[in-house]
Amino acid sequence: MNTLGHRIAELIGAEGPLSVAQFMSLCLYDPEGGAYAAGEPIGQHFITAPEISQAYGELAGLWVAQTWLDQGRPDRPRLMELGPGRGTLMADALRALKVVMPDFLDGAEIVLIESSPGLQRRQETALAGHDRVRWHKHFGDVPADRPLFLIANEFFDCLPVRQFVKTEKGWCERMVIVREGKLAFAVAPAAIDPSLLPPDRVEAPEGGFYEVSPASLALAAEIAATIAACGGGGLIIDYGYDGPGYGETLQAVAGHAYADVLVDPGKVDVSAHVDFVALTRAVRAGGAAAHGPVPQGRFLQALGMAARAERLIAANPGQADAIAAAIDRLVNPDKMGSLFRALGVAPKNAPPLPGF
Ligand code: SAH
Repeated sequence: MNTLGHRIAELIGAEGPLSVAQFMSLCLYDPEGGAYAAGEPIGQHFITAPEISQAYGELAGLWVAQTWLDQGRPDRPRLMELGPGRGTLMADALRALKVVMPDFLDGAEIVLIESSPGLQRRQETALAGHDRVRWHKHFGDVPADRPLFLIANEFFDCLPVRQFVKTEKGWCERMVIVREGKLAFAVAPAAIDPSLLPPDRVEAPEGGFYEVSPASLALAAEIAATIAACGGGGLIIDYGYDGPGYGETLQAVAGHAYADVLVDPGKVDVSAHVDFVALTRAVRAGGAAAHGPVPQGRFLQALGMAARAERLIAANPGQADAIAAAIDRLVNPDKMGSLFRALGVAPKNAPPLPGF
């Protein structure tokens, strides 16, 4: 077991089993051994859409520009990104916005929500030369006082999930324990009150899972409430599913391959697929309209990905094959085009969001 693994085992020894959500939080955010706090997961363990092609962030910028125009160019917009990684998407979006909609940027404030000090430094470098960029650690640190144009790419999959397993006793929470000196999964001995679960879970087969990310749902509702009150739009893109089955989606990747979730905590990237049905409900509960979710490939094509790709290839003919392959990876349903989905958040009376 590595150092973080030993500390987790000690914590379990002292305080008892951890929920999957508590375990996931330690793996990601522990200040000394957590993957985001202490490591460089993007590039080392996985690659994200904005890192695959600059067209991705550029289209995100065009999406913001069109949404802002459609809402009548509200004054003093706030452009916010949750979990900006290496800052690539925002740098590409700002470059596109400068060309197509400099008026947007004139009064805009740019806010990046980032928990990792190392990645914040990366973002500062990527965005050097842009004014009015601020960093915060939490969405809730920023007042709801401006129209909010928000982008979250591969952010919600990081937020911890709780897992419940249907057993003969009822629904029991899945926990992390120590067994024979190793971290292991176990099911809590007592069942929870079934009325705490959504009604459609009641008929689950034995061994079926229910996975929920309370942090994601709370955040989606907060974003929706801000957009409903102040105007703007939100674009949430992630890997996930439309209707929950009875499976579980907790996963770990290391060096671009799937890995064991428990064996090397903090040295692998743990995440879970996003439940877009639950997220959509949370957006509506927060008082905003939800658009989509639609598959990423369809969303990007609707925003003009084909035309953007042609322009990029015309400007860099020597790299035509590489550019075409990168775009194909983003839009092809057999690659990222359909596993990834886009969900839009808008005020209830606003015009339809571009791309949906
Ligand atoms: N959006 C980027 C990076 C995705 S990785 C891209 O597409 O390339 C997830 C990002 O979210 C990282 O920057 C990570 O440090 C940040 N992050 C994860 N959980 C967070 C949290 N709870 N609060 C703030 N930032 C978080």
